[in-house]
Amino acid sequence: MRRGVLGLGVVAACAAAVLVTAFGTSSIGAASTRTCSAAERAKHVKALTAFTRELVAKRRAFFRAHPDAAARRVFVARQQARLGALKRAASCRVGPERADVAVSMSASGGAELVFRIVVLNRGPGRAIAVSVNDPLPHGVELVSATSTSGSCSRGATVTCSLKSLAPGTKVTVTISTHRYLAGVIENAVSVDAATSDPRSANNAATARSTDVPLPAASSGPACAPELSFPGPRAYFHLGPTNYALYQQATGRLGMLLLFVDFPDAPSSAPTGPIFTAAVPALTQWYAEASYGRLTVAVDQVTNWLRLPKSALAYDLHYRGDYPGIVARHRAFLADAVAAADPLVDFSRYSTVLIVAAPHPGTSARMGVPFAAGSGVVADGNELRGLVVAALPLANPPDLVHETGHLFGLPDIYDFSLPFAEGTRNLGRWEPMSNTGSLAHFLGWVKWKLGWLDAAQLRCLDAAATLEETISPIETPGGVKLVVLPTSGTTATIVEVHTLRSVRNQVCDSGVIVYSVDVRAPSGTAAARIRPARDDPASTECGAIPRAALDLGPGEVASYEDGELKVDVVGSDGRSYRVRVTRK
Ligand SMILES: [Zn+2]
Repeated sequence: MRRGVLGLGVVAACAAAVLVTAFGTSSIGAASTRTCSAAERAKHVKALTAFTRELVAKRRAFFRAHPDAAARRVFVARQQARLGALKRAASCRVGPERADVAVSMSASGGAELVFRIVVLNRGPGRAIAVSVNDPLPHGVELVSATSTSGSCSRGATVTCSLKSLAPGTKVTVTISTHRYLAGVIENAVSVDAATSDPRSANNAATARSTDVPLPAASSGPACAPELSFPGPRAYFHLGPTNYALYQQATGRLGMLLLFVDFPDAPSSAPTGPIFTAAVPALTQWYAEASYGRLTVAVDQVTNWLRLPKSALAYDLHYRGDYPGIVARHRAFLADAVAAADPLVDFSRYSTVLIVAAPHPGTSARMGVPFAAGSGVVADGNELRGLVVAALPLANPPDLVHETGHLFGLPDIYDFSLPFAEGTRNLGRWEPMSNTGSLAHFLGWVKWKLGWLDAAQLRCLDAAATLEETISPIETPGGVKLVVLPTSGTTATIVEVHTLRSVRNQVCDSGVIVYSVDVRAPSGTAAARIRPARDDPASTECGAIPRAALDLGPGEVASYEDGELKVDVVGSDGRSYRVRVTRK
C-alpha cells in the first residue's frame, strides 16, 4: 500500500508537470520536427489535457481493484506510453503546411471528349484550399464537371474547389465536353493550394485529344460559273474580264514607279522611305493573294522628275465624267513618261505607278486602265495602266485597291452614300470596298482574276444540298467556293476567310455568305455580304460586323434566307465543313 501511495504521488507530480507543459508551448514544440496546423495542434493538446486530468483517478481505481504489483506495473507502463504518444502529438510545430500537390490529366473520346484530372497530395502535410482550374480550350463545350470530393463550377473556366487534402489523398475530377472543332484539341489544367508546395513542376498538366480530321474536300465536278456582263457602258464589273480594256492579273505585271513633282509643288523628300513603305507590301500582297499566279514587278526611278505644268493644271481629281477623268490622267502620264524617257527603257513595263508630290489642290489616288490603243506609247511599247497616289496617299491598301482597277475590278462601295454607309456592303472584307483593308480579295474576285481553278469551285445549279470542306481563301489549294448561280448575272457565294493573312485586318474568321451582281457598275453593290447577324454595337469589322458564320461560344453557325441555307457543321480552326442547301 505504501508503494501504491508512493506511486500515486509520483504520478500526480508527473501529471502536474504535463499539465504545465501542455499549456506552455515552448517545451512542447522544441523537440518535434513534425508540422501541423493550429487546429490539429489544438485538438492534440485537448486530448492530452483530458487524458492527464483523468490519469490519477483511473490509476487509483485500477489499484483499488488490482492489489497485484505486476498488474499495476503493466497498467502504469501503458498509461505512460499513451501519455508519451499524446505529448508527441501535441508537440507538433505549428507553421505553414508543406504539401506537394500534383495534377495529371488524360483525354478520351471523340465527339464527346472527356478530360480526367487526378489531383494527388504527395505530402508531407495536409494541403489546404486546393483548387483545380481548367480554362476550357477553344473547340469544346462543357457538358458536366464532377469531382469525387468538393465541387466544381461551370463556365468558360471550370474551377473545382477540393477543400483540404490529407497526405496521400487522391481526388478525381471528370470534365465531360462536346467537341465542335476537328483536329487536335489541347487542354491545360492547373492546381493550386493555400499551403506551400515544395514542387511546383507538377502543378500543371496538359492533355491532347486524338486527331479528328475534317472530311476531305470532295472531288466533285469542276464548276466554271460564267456570269456574263450584258452591256458595254460600265467599265468595271465582276463579270469576265475584257483584256482589251484591262490588264491580265496572271503572270508578270511590269510596273515602273516614278516620283513626280511640280513647279508649284517641288519635293526633295528622300524617295527611298516612300518606296520601302509602300512597294514591298504591294508586291507581297499580290504574290500571296494570287497564290503566286501574279507577280507585280516594280522598278523605280529614284529621283524626283519635274513635270512641266502646275499641280492644279493636271486636275487629278475624281470629278466629271469618266472619259474626262481618263483623258486628264493620260495627259498626266504622258508628261511623266516624257520626263523619265531619257532614263528608262519603257519596253519592259505595261503600267506606271506615280507618286506625286503633295499639293493642297491635289488629292489624287486613282487606278486608271487605258483600253488597247489609247494608252501612252514609249520605246515602242504601250503603257496601259496608271496608278497615281499623291503623298501621303501612297500606302499599301490604297495601292492594292488602285492596282485592282487596272484588272477591271469595280469600286465595291456606294458612291452615292456617305463613306461609312457606302462601305456597308463589304466592310473590311474586301480591298475594293475601299476601307483601307488588306484582306484578300473575295473568292469570286479571285475567280474573275484567274487565281482559282474550276476544280476549286463547287456549283449548286438547282435545288439540292451539298456538303463540302472549304479551305481558307488566304491559303493556296483546296476547294474555295460554293457558288449558287441565281441568274445569268448574279450568284450567291459561300467561302471561308481566316485571320492568317499578313496585315489582313480582317476582324473575324469563318464562313461568309455574299452575293455578286456583275451588272452592278463601280460605285454600287457589285457584291454584298449577308451578315451572320446584325450587331450594330460592334464595329470591329467596319460597317458589317458579325459577318462570319462560325462554331463556338457566342458564334452563329447557320444562315438562312429565302434562297439558301448554310450550316457550319465542322471546323479544324482553318477549314470549315459546310452544308449548303439551295431551296
Ligand atoms: Zn477605287
